[in-house]
Amino acid sequence: MSKEPIQYQASCMDDYDPSSMDAAVAQKHILDSVQAIEDVETVTIRNALGRILASPISSELDVPGHTNSAMDGYAVRSDDLPSAGTQRLKVIGTAFAGRPFTSAVAEQECVRIMTGAVMPLGSDSVVMQEHVQREEDEILIDDQQQAGQNVRLTGEDIAKGDFVFQSGRRLSPADIGLLASLGIAEVCVIRKLKVAFFSTGDELVSIGQPLASGQIYDSNRYTLWSMLSELNIEVIDLGVVRDAPELVEQAFKEAAAKADVILTSGGVSVGEADFVKETLASLGQVNFWKVAMKPGRPLAFGQVEQAYFFGLPGNPVSVMVTFYIFVQAAIEKMMGGEPRPRIRLQARCKNQLRKRAGRVEYQRGVFEVDADGVYSVSKTGAQGSGILRSMSDANCFIFLPMESEGVAADAMVEIWPFDSFR
Ligand code: AMP
Ligand code: MG
Repeated sequence: MSKEPIQYQASCMDDYDPSSMDAAVAQKHILDSVQAIEDVETVTIRNALGRILASPISSELDVPGHTNSAMDGYAVRSDDLPSAGTQRLKVIGTAFAGRPFTSAVAEQECVRIMTGAVMPLGSDSVVMQEHVQREEDEILIDDQQQAGQNVRLTGEDIAKGDFVFQSGRRLSPADIGLLASLGIAEVCVIRKLKVAFFSTGDELVSIGQPLASGQIYDSNRYTLWSMLSELNIEVIDLGVVRDAPELVEQAFKEAAAKADVILTSGGVSVGEADFVKETLASLGQVNFWKVAMKPGRPLAFGQVEQAYFFGLPGNPVSVMVTFYIFVQAAIEKMMGGEPRPRIRLQARCKNQLRKRAGRVEYQRGVFEVDADGVYSVSKTGAQGSGILRSMSDANCFIFLPMESEGVAADAMVEIWPFDSFR
């Protein structure tokens, strides 16, 4: 991993194609550059879902705390289970979950028992009620029973002192339940990552205002807000910023003061980058890349004061693609956890796809499972980088590698389900 200042690290100039950079190289460079935050806070477990554990957890309890019944039935002594024929036992009481039967079970006795009830003293096996013939206060059991059956042992799930979770773990719903089963009410987690973002462009109008000629509604801030909101971070929306150096500089300063990460959309394409570049020259170290990908070719990455900065392209589809490809894994690393593995599948492509070699493409598709159990995918309409409907209608990317010169109908392609980004 390179530790040189960012302005000296890989740029578009280092690649085989002097005018563009390999997407995987850009991705690796970004992931290697960002550092995890280390500040911690204590939260209740209901506020810990999706958060990253900052210290390991071990158990101060046995789970379950008592040997108990796994079935509704009768608690018996295994010595009384017949090896042939049947055995008659006297029912001496009932054990409920949370209301134990407090006397001992003697020879040829049994206790009616409910699932989760503590096993009465002397008993060690449960015969399911469906396998018992009940006659008033006696039962008849057959020779098909095993010693120790249908019983959950103390500490079988987790024993006292057992190590439960490593620090760095992203807490899932099951984890939260497990913590509760250990009686743990609060956990120490990494504080939330703060991400500030704004849109740049003189043509942009915020929703709620009328559109004048040549203006468009700012949609990127809403897509970004939505993608960020799925990641359990603190989202700071700094609005629309006009294409004026002093306003852009002020926005960057405000963002750097408030956040760990700054995201912008627009203003990094060749025609516009110069003015953002100038603004950033005094505030940090930022590379402007042309990445060999479609959509999402222009991309800026670096540091603005202490914050990491991602300058995403302005086109609505490019924003989403570059966010998922470059930003999300970096955010996951900065949050203190491992970037999640993404799901990749092979699918039969129902359409012919056109493509030029020399760049990777993230076309948008809808995949489904065919009757023969094989995945198939069809592309969603027009694939222009401004056509957000191509994303909205899709449930996956169709990933076409650098060397691909297009895909014939019915050929196999790689798909990246959107669900694996969420
Ligand atoms: P730019 O990268 O600033 O040259 O923008 C490229 C294209 O994306 C232009 O057509 C912009 O109008 C459009 N665009 C830029 N920012 C936004 C935004 N926040 N919402 C919707 N479209 C945008
Ligand atoms: Mg612009």
